[in-house]
Amino acid sequence: MALNKTSDESILEIVVRVLEKYPLCDRCLGRLFAHLGKNLGNDERGKALKIAAIMELHKKVLKGDKEAVNVLKKILINSRIPLIELYKEMNIGVQEELPKCYICEDRLQEIINIFSELIAKRIAENKMQSFLIGVITPHNIIEKETEIIKKFQLQYWESIKREIKREIGKRVQQMTGAKADFETPQVTYIIDLTNNIVREEIRSVFIFGVYRKLGRMISQNIWIKRDGTRKYRLAIEDAIKSTLTYFKASNVVVHIAGREDADVRMLGNGRPIIIEYKNPHIYTIDLTTLNSILNSFSQWIKFDLKMTTRREAVSRIKMGSIGAYKIYRALIYSEKVLKPEELIRLEKAFEGKTVMQKTPSRILRRKSDKMRYRNVFQVKTIYVSPHVFEALIRCEGGLYVKELITGDNGRTTPNFSQVLETNLRCLMLDVLYVHEHI
Ligand SMILES: [Zn+2]
Repeated sequence: MALNKTSDESILEIVVRVLEKYPLCDRCLGRLFAHLGKNLGNDERGKALKIAAIMELHKKVLKGDKEAVNVLKKILINSRIPLIELYKEMNIGVQEELPKCYICEDRLQEIINIFSELIAKRIAENKMQSFLIGVITPHNIIEKETEIIKKFQLQYWESIKREIKREIGKRVQQMTGAKADFETPQVTYIIDLTNNIVREEIRSVFIFGVYRKLGRMISQNIWIKRDGTRKYRLAIEDAIKSTLTYFKASNVVVHIAGREDADVRMLGNGRPIIIEYKNPHIYTIDLTTLNSILNSFSQWIKFDLKMTTRREAVSRIKMGSIGAYKIYRALIYSEKVLKPEELIRLEKAFEGKTVMQKTPSRILRRKSDKMRYRNVFQVKTIYVSPHVFEALIRCEGGLYVKELITGDNGRTTPNFSQVLETNLRCLMLDVLYVHEHI
C-alpha cells in the first residue's frame, strides 16, 4: 500500500495506519478527525471510521489480498469492535483480552459520564442558571495525543480537553436546563483529571449602592483592637454581614469609594459602595428585600442598594474618590474671639484654592508620608457665636478636611487656622454630598 504521501492518503487509509499501531476507543479515534463531518459526536465518528476501515480490509481479504489478512486482524483487535463472526472467520480468539485505548486507557467515556452527573447534581442543588467547564488534562494523556497527531501529521483533530469540556457542557445543559456561559458564568467547574477532583468556583455577586451614616463613632470596617475588643461598637460592615445568610454566601467584601473617619457622619446622597458576596448561592436578587434587611440592622446606618454590577466596577469605584468632589459641613471652635468679617476673609481666601497636604500626623503610623495637592472650590460660613462658626466646604475628594481646618502643625497649607490667625478645632464634621462617578 502506498501510504508514504500523507497528503494524498484517504481518511480510511490513515485510520488503518493509526489503528494498526494504536488501540483506540471510538471517541479517541473519532477525535483525530473531529473537524470532518459536522454534527457528529466523536464516538459516532470513531465507530463509523472503524467499521468502514474493517469493511474495506475485509473486501480485500475476500478478494485474496494476503497482505490485508494481518492488517485486518490487527485492526479488529485494536478497534475493539466485537464482530464475532468476523473474528471466527479470521481465526481470532474471542476470549482474547482486548487492549485498552492508548490515549485515555478507556477512561474517557467514564470521565464524561461521572463528571456530568456530579456537576449537574451541584448545579441543580444550588439552582445555578449558568456555568462553565474547565479541564486540567494529565500530562501523559496530552503527550500520547500529541504523539499520534505528529506521527500521522493529522490536521482535523481536536484536543481531548475540548471534547471533555464540550461533551460535559452539553450533557449538563440537557440535565439541568442551566446554560453554558463563556463570559460571566455563575459557576465554573474545573475538572482536574490528574487528581480526579472537581473544583467549584462560584462567581461573586457585586451590588452597587450608597450608604448613609446618621450617627458618629461608626467605622466602615469592624475594627478590633490589640486586646481583642472592638474600637467602635458599630460598623458599616456589621450591617452588611447581616445579609450573608440572604445570599447563603461564604464571605462578603466591602468596596467603598473613599473613607470618612468614624466620628464623621455621612449624610446627603450617601457614599458609593459595592458589596461583593463571595460564593453566593442566590442569584435572583430582590433589592427591596435586601435593602430592608440592611436597613433594619441599625437606625444609624442606612443603605440604598441600586443594582447588581460587575467586578470591573470595583476599580472604578475606588478610583472614583479621586477627582470627585464632596461637600462637608464642619462645626469649628476658635481659641480667639472671631468677628463675622473675619469669616468673610476666610471664604475669599479659599475661593478656588489649591492646598498642599502632607499625610496627616494622626495617620502617619499607618500611611506613608507624602505630599498631595487638592483643590478647595468654595467655603461658606455661618457665624454661630464668638468662638464657634460653621463652614460648608466644597472640595476635591481625597482632601483631609480636619487638617484643612487645624493646619496640622503646618503640614497642610494654606489652612483655616493660619488665615484666621488662631487655633481652630473641628468639633463636628459631616459629609453632605459625594459626587458620584459611577
Ligand atoms: Zn480513548
